[in-house]
Amino acid sequence: MNNNPLSFVQPTADSPWGTYISQVDRVVPYLGHLAKWAETLKRPKRALIVDVPIELDNGEVAHFEGYRVQHNLSRGPGKGGVRYHPEVTLEEVMALSAWMTVKCAAVNLPYGGAKGGIRVDPKKLSHKELERMTRRYTSEIGIIIGPQRDIPAPDVNTNGQIMAWMMDTYSMNTGTTATGVVTGKPIHLGGSLGRVKATGRGVFVTGREAARRLNMKLDGARVAVQGFGNVGSSAAELFAQAGAKIVAAQDHTGTIYNPSGFDMADITAHVKATGGVGGFKGAEAMDGEAFWDVACDILIPAALEGQITAERAQRIKARLVLEGANGPTLPTADDILAERGVLVVPDVICNAGGVTVSYFEWVQDFSSFFWSEDEINLRLDKIMAGALKHIWDTADKHRITLRTATFAVACERILIAREERGLYP
Ligand code: GLU
Repeated sequence: MNNNPLSFVQPTADSPWGTYISQVDRVVPYLGHLAKWAETLKRPKRALIVDVPIELDNGEVAHFEGYRVQHNLSRGPGKGGVRYHPEVTLEEVMALSAWMTVKCAAVNLPYGGAKGGIRVDPKKLSHKELERMTRRYTSEIGIIIGPQRDIPAPDVNTNGQIMAWMMDTYSMNTGTTATGVVTGKPIHLGGSLGRVKATGRGVFVTGREAARRLNMKLDGARVAVQGFGNVGSSAAELFAQAGAKIVAAQDHTGTIYNPSGFDMADITAHVKATGGVGGFKGAEAMDGEAFWDVACDILIPAALEGQITAERAQRIKARLVLEGANGPTLPTADDILAERGVLVVPDVICNAGGVTVSYFEWVQDFSSFFWSEDEINLRLDKIMAGALKHIWDTADKHRITLRTATFAVACERILIAREERGLYP
């Protein structure tokens, strides 16, 4: 019998779920007998939509739509962040949860994939309203999360404070002190050293390894970064420390360019003080679309999905694209970049540093024994470089892109687990 199509999502070629499905379709020919189970990857195991009502500071009641999707739990509990954004949809969270499944398997962490989100502009809420919304959301998804079931973490517009409220709410509801229910927590609540900068560090490590294979020197390399939040700024800092010049940056506040490279201390202070790169004195302001034409060697999309379209892919000057964001490149753009000889280190390995240190945090919480920052950074480097090497060998063997190779490595692990566990009943 043919598989019934999902009724609750109508993906298009360019939508996040549509992008993910096309990435799965591309890997199926490399899965051998496991292809029998590939449909599993195209269906989230569980998707929860919740109403999140809160009392605003002025006494009115506001309702927000929240989600938690557990895409696949074959290899372990669900893992993945929670995103607060006014345009979050169920479809987007589904795709993000699926990319978490692939990402965790690509670096061989004992996790499945999950993701959550609330359709809200958190900048419009007061601190207290943000806390009430986070607590109510946590309570609503509390029926499916837990240290052994599904472990949320920070993502776009969420941070350690929000994780602390989530940990506290879950703990209060269960009568425990459940530090392992979320990762990305503040250090005093069982957080891990190195977690805040871990995603950016992973982008740097995979970028360093890819540059080495391309014979590209990091010293003097020109880097353009889209998104100067946690991921983009941490990656930029490490590239600058390795001698690279950060020549362009873009975020929701503006686009800036300086061919001699930004002074990292100045830009960091500017972003901290103003909330974005716009208006930075050490660079000239540029039209947003011109960002994609900037002369650079390395491009780091570290913002949202769907940024590298087919049209932009024709104009990109970089030789190396490091996907700090989840899903920044559309499938049509992927083909164009490959044809043009631009190497893309895909999100599902490039930005896996965050979830890798989340895993370290979870392990430390369980053992109540905490590691030094050096130890964490060293282990992260080893895992990321090792995973990328394995993926690179797979890409060479089948003559496929790094994205399809990452999917091949990851999907094989996921589907072997699927097959070994067997269908219940
Ligand atoms: N939100 C991050 C990601 O997209 C980290 C998830 C986690 O640590 O669980 O990979």
